[in-house]
Amino acid sequence: MESSLFSLSGKTALVTGGGRGIGFALAKGLAEHGADVALVARTKEQLEVAAHKIQSQTSSNARAFPFDVENVGEIERFFERIVAEMHGIDILVNCAGTTIRGPAEDVDLATWNRVIQVNLTSVLVLSQAFCWHRKQAGKAGRIINIGSLTCHAARPTTAAYGSSKSGLLMLTKTLAVEWAKYNINVNLIGPGYIATELTKPLWTDDDFNRWVIEKTPLARWGQPEDLVGAAVLLASRAGDFITGQIIYVDGGWLALL
Ligand code: NDP
Repeated sequence: MESSLFSLSGKTALVTGGGRGIGFALAKGLAEHGADVALVARTKEQLEVAAHKIQSQTSSNARAFPFDVENVGEIERFFERIVAEMHGIDILVNCAGTTIRGPAEDVDLATWNRVIQVNLTSVLVLSQAFCWHRKQAGKAGRIINIGSLTCHAARPTTAAYGSSKSGLLMLTKTLAVEWAKYNINVNLIGPGYIATELTKPLWTDDDFNRWVIEKTPLARWGQPEDLVGAAVLLASRAGDFITGQIIYVDGGWLALL
């Protein structure tokens, strides 16, 4: 049973990227602490399986809302539909993300625009819709963005991804300082290397896998569930006075010189 400081009972969270990986683990973790959850991703079947799993393993309501966040022009209407069907959204978790790896000198504009649109622009537009909704309801809100180690430093072959994630860091801080007056706390979780479908090309590469384990003080890849504690902290009463922060959950990666 969760303590009331971390309870999310009576709250509803919208989690983008909730169909699998980190987003699914976060949605399930929030549901285990009492929140109802609306899951957003493109693949309808995967999303419905995810919602069913959460609904059957927790006492929370979990619903699937298939959508491509790259369609930023449709986000406002889509968000209003979720608000109507879920009777309000208290917590927005922006976790949907993508990457296309390649040398910076070869990145074409279509690739660049796609990654920026999914990882950064959609977060702005969804957050704006959330902000209007909370203002209209006269209620506080929480936004949790999912960043990356590339908020802090660069990796070769990730120009668009790294630019989108470090942009997300500054968007987080800007929204935090602008929307504090509405009692909307905005924070960012920076995961280290987490074993998911996104990073499959990395953890299936023997050399890269060894490099990650050797370079991580806790000597392993993170699992999506490792991020749940930080998300519950930021979503719950325990996080009332935390805003504009980045919490790295990286097994100690950034602490090591
Ligand atoms: P996965 O690829 O496992 O999951 C990504 C999720 O986002 C899926 O549910 C996917 O569903 C959804 N998604 C992707 N594109 C879109 C889109 N255009 N519209 C709606 N949903 C979309 O990745 P992870 O769980 O690893 O990553 C989740 C987040 O964590 C990302 O923002 C990533 O950048 C970040 N991150 C991950 C790290 C890691 O090591 N794994 C490290 C640092 C940050 P679908 O394809 O069905 O749309």
